[in-house]
Parts: sequence; C-alpha cells; structure tokens
Amino acid sequence: MLKEAMLYEKLSDQAVCCHICQRFCEILKDERGYCRTRQNRGGRLFSRIYGEVSSWRRAPIEIKPVYHYLPGSYALSLGSVGCNFLCPGCQNWEISFALSQPLSIQTEYISPEKALELAQDYHCQGISWTYNEPTLWFEYTLECARLAKARGFYTNYVTNGYLSPEALDTIGPYLDIFRLDIKGFTANVYKKIAHIRNWEGILAVASRAKKRWQMHVEVVTNLIPGINDDLGQLQDLATWIKSELGSDTPWHITRFSPHWKFSHLCPTPIEKLEEIRDMAMSDGLKFVYIGNVSAHPANHTYCPGCGKIVVQRDGWGKVICKLTSNRCPFCGTVIAGRFQ
Ligand code: SF4
Ligand code: SF4
Repeated sequence: MLKEAMLYEKLSDQAVCCHICQRFCEILKDERGYCRTRQNRGGRLFSRIYGEVSSWRRAPIEIKPVYHYLPGSYALSLGSVGCNFLCPGCQNWEISFALSQPLSIQTEYISPEKALELAQDYHCQGISWTYNEPTLWFEYTLECARLAKARGFYTNYVTNGYLSPEALDTIGPYLDIFRLDIKGFTANVYKKIAHIRNWEGILAVASRAKKRWQMHVEVVTNLIPGINDDLGQLQDLATWIKSELGSDTPWHITRFSPHWKFSHLCPTPIEKLEEIRDMAMSDGLKFVYIGNVSAHPANHTYCPGCGKIVVQRDGWGKVICKLTSNRCPFCGTVIAGRFQ
C-alpha cells in the first residue's frame, strides 16, 4: 500500500531527501531511492510497501537469533521486500532484492491491527520485523510497535543498523530489542558487502540504541570465508562490543552458508568459528555463541560465574531455561537480559 513517508525533507525542483536511513538519498521527482521502496511523487515521498508482507510466521525468538530476551518465547515474524544494502551473500535474496531485480514476489497487505490480531491468535509474546531490513517499512513498523507496546507485546528489530539517528529516536520508545548485524569492522568489508562508505554510522546508532533507549542489544556477525573472517578485525570488533555495548552483550558468530552471488564460496569452517569465539571470550566478552551449527555446545548459555548451563538449547525449538530471574540459580551471578 502506498503511504506518505515520514522523515523526509523537501528540496528545490520537487526533489526530496529521505532521512530514514544513512544513505540519505536525494530523490528527484518521479524517481525512487536506492532501496526502491520509496518514491518521489510530485515532490512528496511515499513508501511503496506500507503493510506489504512478503512472509510471516510464528517463530521462536532463538531463531533471530536472540538468546537473552525471554528464551523459549515466540514472536510473530513479519517481513516485506527490498533492502538498503543488497549484500551479495544474502540468504533472503528473493525478498531483499525483489525490487532491484526482475523477480516476482507476492505480498499481501496486513494492517497493523491485523498483525496484532495474528500475534494474539498465534499465542506470541512479541513481534519481530525481520527477513528484509525493517527500516524500509519504517512507518508500518512504527505503527505496529506502538500498538504492540500498548497491548503488552515485546518488539524486536532484526536490522543491519543503518537507520538514521532520527529514525532510531522516533521508534526508540517502542522498541525493546535491537538485533543488530555487524558485518565486519573495516571500511573495506562494508564496501564489499553492503556498498556503503560511512559504516561507523552503524556503530553510533547501536551505541545510541543501548545508551539512550536502553534497548536490549544482541550482535550477529556472519563469517564469510575470505571476506570478513580476518582475526585482527574481528578482535577489534569484539573489543568495540565490550567497550561500547558492554561485556555482557551477546555476540553470535554465525556460519555462512553459500547463497546468491556468494554461492561459489565455502561454508565457514567450524574450527574458525570456535577460534573466534575463544578469542572473544579471552578478550572479555561473556556470551559468545556459534550460530547455524546445530547442537553445538556454544549454543547454550553458560553462567560466567560458575560455568554451569543456565539456558540449554539442543536445536530449534528445544529450549530449557533454568533462569527465573537475572541471577544464576547455582551461584547467584547476574546474567544480563530479560528472563521473566
Ligand atoms: S530508506 Fe535509505 S536507501 Fe531507501 S530511499 Fe531512504 S535513504 Fe535511500
Ligand atoms: S542487510 Fe540483510 S536483508 Fe539486506 S541484503 Fe544484507 S543480508 Fe540481506
């Protein structure tokens, strides 16, 4: 559904500047922005994807992955089409590239009210905007998030973090979880994967989500062999997470599985993931998980005090949470997150 966009500025000659993400596209009359979800119609900017859902399902929060926010709970997961990054190894490329390639993806309109009804009917505790970049249907996610918070659901953005500070501050009061991809820690990595130059803007927004809005932040880095798996830059990333977001911020290092334009690359060797995890934990991060490797012991949450398993994850859907508060039941150490 077409809806006038929020957060844009009118320029001369009926051009506009979109302030939703840090590309800040200047869009001429009748043109679209980089993501192709936003169109200038006669000097006014419109979202083309308000409420246009490409996929939805009831999904465990673990699958996002989010491990320290109500483990074992379910969220209604909603995605639309388009992306502002267009990563060559995107596993959801059919929907993220849907507006940039001659692909045909069917969407169905689901109003914010209807989305909340679905969440209720399917016994979800929260709502996740996921599959494609949630910022691109910002107006819709904002309206859903407002309704969700008013009705007691938690809210979760699964994001590449490239939204503008202005967009973050607008949705900040209604967002509980910021599940952030940090794809690497150099300009070169971000240029190769996401075709952006000002990658440090992602770090600034992540810090703001945590410090200004007290969102629960979990970081994911998908390790792509030969692209972003250099030990030195991952060490810098681990150090940054510790100093800016805190040593108890969960960091998920996930196994790359070949997709789309990176189909020729190999999956990440498991030993590499283990090496990075060991490095990050030696450097002081308390919760480092290995993702996309079923039943790996680094899927469990271990108490940083006594080392016992406090949340056991044996595969999708099988979660045994021994925490009834933020304290380890065995030794009393505080475990960061929300567990009740
Ligand atoms: S959301 Fe980002 S990529 Fe899309 S038009 Fe706005 S600034 Fe450009
Ligand atoms: S940011 Fe995420 S959704 Fe967008 S192209 Fe990259 S991997 Fe796909």
